[in-house]
Amino acid sequence: KIEGQITADDIDQLTEHFPLCMRHLHKKLREDKHLKHYGRMQYNLFLKGVGLSLEEALRFWRMSFSETNDDQFQKKAYAYNIRHNYGMEGKRTNYSPLNCMRIITNNQPGEGDHHGCPFRHFSEANLSHTLHNAGVTDKVQIRQIIDYVKGHHYNIACTRFFELTHGGSKEQGMMAAINHPNEFFEKSYQSSQE
Ligand code: SF4
Repeated sequence: KIEGQITADDIDQLTEHFPLCMRHLHKKLREDKHLKHYGRMQYNLFLKGVGLSLEEALRFWRMSFSETNDDQFQKKAYAYNIRHNYGMEGKRTNYSPLNCMRIITNNQPGEGDHHGCPFRHFSEANLSHTLHNAGVTDKVQIRQIIDYVKGHHYNIACTRFFELTHGGSKEQGMMAAINHPNEFFEKSYQSSQE
């Protein structure tokens, strides 16, 4: 797939290449059929970076908010905000997908929020559980990632997670630290095409 060819229907399948922050947002969107403001913004801008056109993004969000009627979808400005992220409303700024630094440091998630970075914002128990579910089952490897988190090295923890879940790069420190969720996606997607 290349930019412009990804459709709303492809997203479920592509999540296997998403970093934990975006997998979490996708999971919660599917469970709750809703995401709060910053979650929508973080995920929508990421999906834009993955290659979803504005038209497909609107279709994706409309389908995902399956328990929201059309009237509410318009009234609550969901469609407006999606178009806004694509630079089609307001000041018409063509917003870039958020990098890890912004996700980690800005707009700390509160009760009911699902945006942010799991390495920064999850409890140790929740992060261990999430890593296990994502395929890192070795206790020593989970401990190593938790130790990076405790040292505030969130990007190194995320990069180590990438290495451990992408065969062939099991050696620690073989790749440069990932600093952007879209970089994680692109590296993962490319490795599946090789
Ligand atoms: Fe997402 Fe970046 Fe956190 Fe990885 S380090 S989970 S890409 S915000």
